[in-house]
Amino acid sequence: MALIVQKYGGTSVGNTGRIKNVAARVARYRSKGDQIVVVVSAMSGVTDNLITLAREIMPLPSEREMDVLLATGEQTTIALTAMALHALGVKAVSLTGSQAGILTDGVHTKAKIQNITPKEIHRHLDDGNVVIVAGFQGETPDGQITTLGRGGSDLTAIALASALKADLCQIYTDVDGVYTADPRIVPGARKLDEISYDEMLELASLGAKVMQSRSVEFAKKFGVVFEVRSSLNDNPGTIVKEETRNMEDVVIRGVSLDKNQAKVTLVAVPDKPGVAARIFKTLGDAAINVDMIVQNVSHGAGAPATDVSFTVEKADLLKAQKVIEGLKKEVRFGEVIATDKIGKLSIVGVGMKSHSGVAGKMFETLAKEGVNIEMISTSEIKISVVIDLAKAEQAMNAVHETFLG
Ligand code: ADP
Ligand code: ASP
Ligand code: MG
Repeated sequence: MALIVQKYGGTSVGNTGRIKNVAARVARYRSKGDQIVVVVSAMSGVTDNLITLAREIMPLPSEREMDVLLATGEQTTIALTAMALHALGVKAVSLTGSQAGILTDGVHTKAKIQNITPKEIHRHLDDGNVVIVAGFQGETPDGQITTLGRGGSDLTAIALASALKADLCQIYTDVDGVYTADPRIVPGARKLDEISYDEMLELASLGAKVMQSRSVEFAKKFGVVFEVRSSLNDNPGTIVKEETRNMEDVVIRGVSLDKNQAKVTLVAVPDKPGVAARIFKTLGDAAINVDMIVQNVSHGAGAPATDVSFTVEKADLLKAQKVIEGLKKEVRFGEVIATDKIGKLSIVGVGMKSHSGVAGKMFETLAKEGVNIEMISTSEIKISVVIDLAKAEQAMNAVHETFLG
């Protein structure tokens, strides 16, 4: 008897018909005698709608209350999925994150899982139930509801697979697996049979929302092998696992585009020791993740000053602007310019470690497309550029064609 964790994302449970399909698939697995733990997301659009409602009340709502609000999305789906299994005569019970024993820290809206005590899950499995767990949520040791960041149901599934020592972890979604690029933007994208944790992690953190990046980080850390596959058919999906030697033969595994970034530029920042530390420490203390940073060469007569640009997630832009405004008197910089009309385009591949000339080829492709590069960052296995959002999809297709066409 195997223990299988299956996660179904928003589109896969997007209406009652889809939920019935999920139940039918789960019932099929269950009839083979395996134990099944199902993790579900909110029905597609629900989390976004809840966020819109909150913002209609106020632009920066309390993060604690956001979590109380957002957790309702997944709570709806677990109950409906349990009912759909009951309708098929399958024993099933739904559990919220807290009932499932998912303990997190207290960083509301992006909480980290600290510990899972799957006592209740085991009890219900032993009673012959399919156990349906609400993704994306947990609770703090003192009982506060938390959520795990957008796309966080992936993390719930991977963490549960690890805690339960599951034999199989399947992430069901609305595409056949992980592609060389988002198939909705790049029609020529191809499905990958396998991908390494590191490549999946880079692609995910750089905008490929097919997997939440923190869930991949977790899978890598605890060695959870998982498969990304479609809830709409039975095609084999993509296996995500530790890097194998032949993977380096492929220079570029995939291309991703992150449209969720915003850029903030501080003009005329005093160019002296301690200033950057003050700015970025303050942003960090406000739990704002800064991604790329570019500092120009000093300019101006008199006291040296420089422009500093950095990127944050769009969702954090208002908060970042508020934090920066709060520093203005103390640090004495000039204007603050913010834009969310940027895209971060990246190429990823472990093969980059052993192949040269990749950056040149990418920049040449962008030049041919008339795309200006505003920021660049690289690691051993990726190259990212910030470009104008209006040209981002065209640039993505061109870069995909160059490396993977
Ligand atoms: P779910 O609701 O199942 O969690 P998501 O919407 O979060 O699904 O993720 C699936 C979507 O990710 C796909 O519909 C696809 O448009 C997008 N996507 C982005 N990059 C990729 C990629 N490289 N491979 C596959 N899908 C991708
Ligand atoms: N419902 C949450 C979201 O939309 C979590 C998830 O879907 O994984 O971000
Ligand atoms: Mg998702």
